Amino acid sequence: MEQTLIILKPDAVRNKHVGNIIARIEKEGFNIVALKKITLKDKDAKKFYAVHKERPFYKDLCKFMTTGPVVVAVLEAPGAVEKWRKLIGATDPAQAEANTIRKLYAESKEANAVHGSDSEKNAKGEIKFFFKAAELKGKL
Ligand code: UDP
Ligand code: MG
Repeated sequence: MEQTLIILKPDAVRNKHVGNIIARIEKEGFNIVALKKITLKDKDAKKFYAVHKERPFYKDLCKFMTTGPVVVAVLEAPGAVEKWRKLIGATDPAQAEANTIRKLYAESKEANAVHGSDSEKNAKGEIKFFFKAAELKGKL
């Protein structure tokens, strides 16, 4: 069974969309393997988004990710990585399809409500970044 790492970003938490997003996750058939609310430190955000460090939005993005708590979770489903990417929609909510999570809940291209791993390989690394093996026992 495939797994992916998701983040409900500070805007989604601040705007109280956590309950609705989690309800949608369950309705769409994902199993929630692990889930926790944490606040990222500047160094955590910088490390997590290091692949974007040359991009013009990197600094602001890292700052935004530390503006409040986030919810990080590991989801499991057949084809979980692609399934979640499809469900969240385009990076910019203005470009996201109707009824996607970003269309419904995002504030802007930066404060776009949710993160999702972009490949199985990156999902494995991102899951390790946030969760210890002992936390990943929430299988059905
Ligand atoms: N981002 C931004 N400006 C941009 C592109 C991306 O602020 O022009 C932010 C946005 O929060 C996005 C994150 O950087 O979710 C990572 O960018 P990526 O291209 O990986 O988008 P994603 O995979 O999240 O759709
Ligand atoms: Mg990405």
